[in-house]
Amino acid sequence: MDYKQILSQRIQEVPPSGIRKYFDIMAEMDDAISLGVGEPDFQTPWHIRDAGIYSLEKGFTKYTPNAGLSDLRRAICRYLKRRFDLDYQPIGQTLVTVGGSEGLDLAFRCLLEPGDEVIIPTPSFVCYGPLVSMIHGVPVYVETKVEHEFRLTPEELKAAITPRTKILVLPFPNNPTGGIMHREDLEALAEVLRGTNIMVVSDEIYAELTYGQHHVSMANIPDMYERTIVINGFSKAYSMTGWRMGYVCGPKELIAAMTKLHQYGIMSAPTTSQYAAIEAMEHGDRDIETMKQEYDGRRRFLVDGFRQLGLDCFEPRGAFYVFPCIRSTGLSSEEFCDRFLEQEHVAVIPGSAFGPGGEGFVRACYAASMKNLTEALTRLERFLGTL
Ligand code: PMP
Repeated sequence: MDYKQILSQRIQEVPPSGIRKYFDIMAEMDDAISLGVGEPDFQTPWHIRDAGIYSLEKGFTKYTPNAGLSDLRRAICRYLKRRFDLDYQPIGQTLVTVGGSEGLDLAFRCLLEPGDEVIIPTPSFVCYGPLVSMIHGVPVYVETKVEHEFRLTPEELKAAITPRTKILVLPFPNNPTGGIMHREDLEALAEVLRGTNIMVVSDEIYAELTYGQHHVSMANIPDMYERTIVINGFSKAYSMTGWRMGYVCGPKELIAAMTKLHQYGIMSAPTTSQYAAIEAMEHGDRDIETMKQEYDGRRRFLVDGFRQLGLDCFEPRGAFYVFPCIRSTGLSSEEFCDRFLEQEHVAVIPGSAFGPGGEGFVRACYAASMKNLTEALTRLERFLGTL
């Protein structure tokens, strides 16, 4: 069979993720240290795992309602009110998804017509562009700048808007830069958006992981509630990546459309995970705080470490990544990562994998033990000495 003839042109055109290759190489090394993968190194807190196990013991092994267990949706709404002052109804405005990833896919698929443009600030998480392209949407990348602390400015937004603009993705707190948007920054963007039909897909998966500044959602800015879809999930805040639990909240009409698609494509999010997620929402605030304290210590350690070795490093305000500039080495991001992994067996990810504006930077994830971070810096010093 000629599969090139059979596979859709679209999927053939989607580039593979720039992250994957480093894991394949690393898998062959015994002493490798990975600061590559964007995943918490903590176990899911025991009481949350226990709630999942208990649900299995009770025999809760069937589908749940399409939109998710009503107890979970109620818990999500209480949590969003308590933590971020967001008002959503459990019935009609909340949909439980398979990770934030499914929520993003649903939002794009329910909003876009072929040729519609989606403004995507970069560097950012790798999935937005490919998901948009798959449904014949057009990603429009807007580079955020280190001199603006990797925030999206109203001027940059305005310059990217055309009559075909349908969605603005707001990927903050940002993976990979660690940039966040303050209330004033969001208000300035809102000023540009008022009077347009542009929807905001706000990826708030790192909302709990900010350092020194509480996360503000675009949905909380005057007039923005009706045009914002909030994407969130359990992977990062509760260290629950493998449970595949996320949720979306937004205006009723949009959540109804997304629920319809979710019903056909997914049925319902994993039942065991939903029971665990209720426990996380109701009794997990302290776990978040403990993990966050730990990340904060590692964040400062790594930023100081990179700076002491002569690399410029923006101080990340959110998520769990450091994004140092490696231009002074004379290497491209990819050369830097290839050689660092080959010579010193440490995996970091080229900034260029995260879209325009990422070249000249590398992403190091600090969701790794202090022992590994210390060893990674020792190896980095040795590596820089060979250049
Ligand atoms: N958004 C961002 C910014 C991410 O970094 C990730 C995971 N790396 C996701 C969404 C997806 O997370 P999940 O599907 O596990 O909720």
